Amino acid sequence: MNSIIKTTLIFLSVWFVACSKEQQETAKEPTTESVFAKGKKITNNNFTGTAWLQMLVNNDSIYNTSIGNVTFEAGARTRWHKHPGGQILLITDGTGYYQEKGKPAQLIRKGDVVKIPPDTEHWHGAAPNSGLTHIAISTNLQKGNVVWLQPVSDEEYSDKPIN
Ligand code: MN
Repeated sequence: MNSIIKTTLIFLSVWFVACSKEQQETAKEPTTESVFAKGKKITNNNFTGTAWLQMLVNNDSIYNTSIGNVTFEAGARTRWHKHPGGQILLITDGTGYYQEKGKPAQLIRKGDVVKIPPDTEHWHGAAPNSGLTHIAISTNLQKGNVVWLQPVSDEEYSDKPIN
């Protein structure tokens, strides 16, 4: 083998190894894109802190259901409220809390599913040090829309025992 071919082969081997290593590293990177749009900043006073909403399904007389993608910044949460027809939360990113009145708060995180019974006073939102994204499915809307109550005070938010 002459030296030009040898040099070429060595160069190609190094190049091949470098390329496959680069490919592996790219594949290991976590995806940061969310499936659904973040939507618009919520400007009503039913939330404390900063949150965004993207409606995915609007209520109609066939499904009696609305579905929204809700993103909370760290520390953001809903007011206390209840759903006459219940609600289901699919946590798609981050860490936060779900609390029913009179019960300890539950830590919720990406991958969790929360079933909220009809007419049950509760709140949901992000942890103090993490954002939270969930898909909120409001069911049986023929029974009525969400009833908003008092804000979750800073004391309630910070003093909550965790289940
Ligand atoms: Mn709710």
